[in-house]
Amino acid sequence: MFSSTYREARQRFLDTAAACELAVDTRVLDGIAGLEGETLAADVVRIGPADAKRLLVLTSATHGIEGFCGSGAQIALLRDDVLPALMDKLGVAMLLVHAINPYGFSYLSRTTEGNVDLNRNSVNFDGALPQNAGYAELHDLLIPATWPPGEANVAAIRAYIDTHGQWAYQQAVTTGQYTHERGMFYGGAQTAWSTRTMRELLAQYGEACSAIGWIDFHTGLGPSGFGAKICVGDVARARRWWGADVTSPSDGTSIAADVAGPLLDTLRQTCGHAAIASIAIEYGTVPLTDMLDMLRADVWVRHHPDAPDALKADIRRQIRAAFYIDDDIWRGMIVGQARVAVLQALYGLSREEGY
Ligand SMILES: [Zn+2]
Repeated sequence: MFSSTYREARQRFLDTAAACELAVDTRVLDGIAGLEGETLAADVVRIGPADAKRLLVLTSATHGIEGFCGSGAQIALLRDDVLPALMDKLGVAMLLVHAINPYGFSYLSRTTEGNVDLNRNSVNFDGALPQNAGYAELHDLLIPATWPPGEANVAAIRAYIDTHGQWAYQQAVTTGQYTHERGMFYGGAQTAWSTRTMRELLAQYGEACSAIGWIDFHTGLGPSGFGAKICVGDVARARRWWGADVTSPSDGTSIAADVAGPLLDTLRQTCGHAAIASIAIEYGTVPLTDMLDMLRADVWVRHHPDAPDALKADIRRQIRAAFYIDDDIWRGMIVGQARVAVLQALYGLSREEGY
């Protein structure tokens, strides 16, 4: 179910859809080839009753490299023999969007072809953009001239954390910024292809629906293998569907920063006519500072194409290892918790009153 490259993951998803006799709606990212020269695309399948007015959306690779996890979960769910009959019984359909950020998935990067973090991009670019003075202060330290960082760089970052605290450091780095296009957690200067594509898909498939849920699969934060459910939007409804352990960055219960413009916001932007609830499932991998160091390396390697091939390959290997744990127990935890969350959402959608 799990793959070791985007190309392999895409083929496995398409093969699984074909084996289930499902039509695939492919949205190609034109003009850019993948790391192995392959086509870059988001592939979409809808399963369940044709006339269902309740829809559960499942997305993978919002943060490119994290797609190894989400792709595996989606393929496992497609192969799940129990789900089709249950969806028929409950009157709920599912929309699986495989690799909404195919560039990042293929190139083993968190961000898009424009170095955009899709969880900072669903903002109104005609209005005032969020400011992040802390990031501006840290940028030169975060992305040093050479990688790995030297002793002086490590000491300077440690001094920042000692002065301001670990949480302040995490906030400054991860909240998002719109000033450094070659920096980390960059929200972009315009709506990215992936964000636009997601809005089109939700508008098209969600138009006739009265209730819509969305699970977006992520990795990199929290204890290894544990899936934290992080809500964007209506926390009360999300807790009704997914349980009391749903957390929210807006009320301080989440391990994630409260960010502007997460991709999940596109549901509110396109389907205001429906009852909606959305969560990211954030599966833990490695300790936070190691994960952030790999995101620094991710940005560094992207902007140093002339770096030695061996160094680039080594960095990409390390980044992948920070966002995907190559271990059967970890993979089992991904699939098991994804299945529980999907069952909860199907029942939650089916019990939503008044829609
Ligand atoms: Zn993520």
